[in-house]
Amino acid sequence: MENYEDRLITSQYTPEDNDIEVSLRPKELTDYIGQDKAKENLSIYIEAARKRNDTLDHVLLYGPPGLGKTTLAGIIANEMGVNIRITSGPAIEKQGDLAALLTNLSEGDVLFIDEIHRLNRSVEEVLYPAMEDSAIDIIIGKGPSARSIRLDLPHFTLVGATTRAGQLSAPLRDRFGVILRLELYSPEQLASIVKRSAGILGIEIDDDGALEIASRSRGTPRIANRLLKRARDFAEVMADGVITEKTAMDALGRMDIDELGLDAIDRTLLTTMIKNYSGGPVGLDTIAAAIGEEAVTIEDVYEPYLMQLGFLSRTPRGRCVTPEAYRHLGIEYKV
Ligand code: ADP
Repeated sequence: MENYEDRLITSQYTPEDNDIEVSLRPKELTDYIGQDKAKENLSIYIEAARKRNDTLDHVLLYGPPGLGKTTLAGIIANEMGVNIRITSGPAIEKQGDLAALLTNLSEGDVLFIDEIHRLNRSVEEVLYPAMEDSAIDIIIGKGPSARSIRLDLPHFTLVGATTRAGQLSAPLRDRFGVILRLELYSPEQLASIVKRSAGILGIEIDDDGALEIASRSRGTPRIANRLLKRARDFAEVMADGVITEKTAMDALGRMDIDELGLDAIDRTLLTTMIKNYSGGPVGLDTIAAAIGEEAVTIEDVYEPYLMQLGFLSRTPRGRCVTPEAYRHLGIEYKV
């Protein structure tokens, strides 16, 4: 079976993305396509903070991987005219690691912590006074003579990113002044992103070609950019270098991505639920065991898009495959 790690349409970051992601990241809010609600709120907060000559309040961004959280953190820093330090929850192992990061910030800097829900509790505790009072408490000495001293930090803006806000501890979540949820993108918005990326990378693509790639990208810019690159290879070898609707369709068909953006793993997930569990309700852990994926991966990566398509529904007793999914897969729906 296809492995999640090798999956072409994984929305998670792979090292291969690195070269293009940096060049394709919009640097200003006006270049950031879609997410109108988040963008509008953010631009007001940024302007207000700038007018007051103040640092921006701490911002929590949440939503599935590949939707532009890191990009938005970079834009915030850029619009505020400050530097950004990037790290992630699992990378900060000890309290001292975070203390070192915090004391090295300059006034006004943005500290971006990706996967912030994976910070361990003891590290999280260092973050509370840092977020609230721009200070950290350091314990000096050991045993009965140990004492705590408070160290002032520069004012900074913490931008946290998480795939699920629900996994954050309440004390941490409460310390964010701004909480923004990113949504999956519409095919039209993704088509604009594809055209913008094609322009930067010097790829020729027409409107229908862009829309074709967009509608198979599961609402996710990272996937759209990746499919664009693959379609370019295909267009250069098999066509005259221009990505048209037909070249895009051929290229994506060969990658086993269907017209709705589903790949072999999505189809395995749905057909396993249908064949082994009569379409549900099935518990998440049962599905995970049946298809050999981790439950969190299913929940964060596969489900959001399958639910947006209306192919999966969540009920208190488990997940159910909907009649629309049966129709798409060409399997007869029996009540
Ligand atoms: P996340 O941090 O949510 O996993 P990223 O910020 O790394 O996602 O975005 C992945 C890629 O998608 C980036 O390279 C960026 O070019 C592109 N991207 C994301 N959001 C947008 C957007 N709104 N407009 C244009 N490109 C975007």
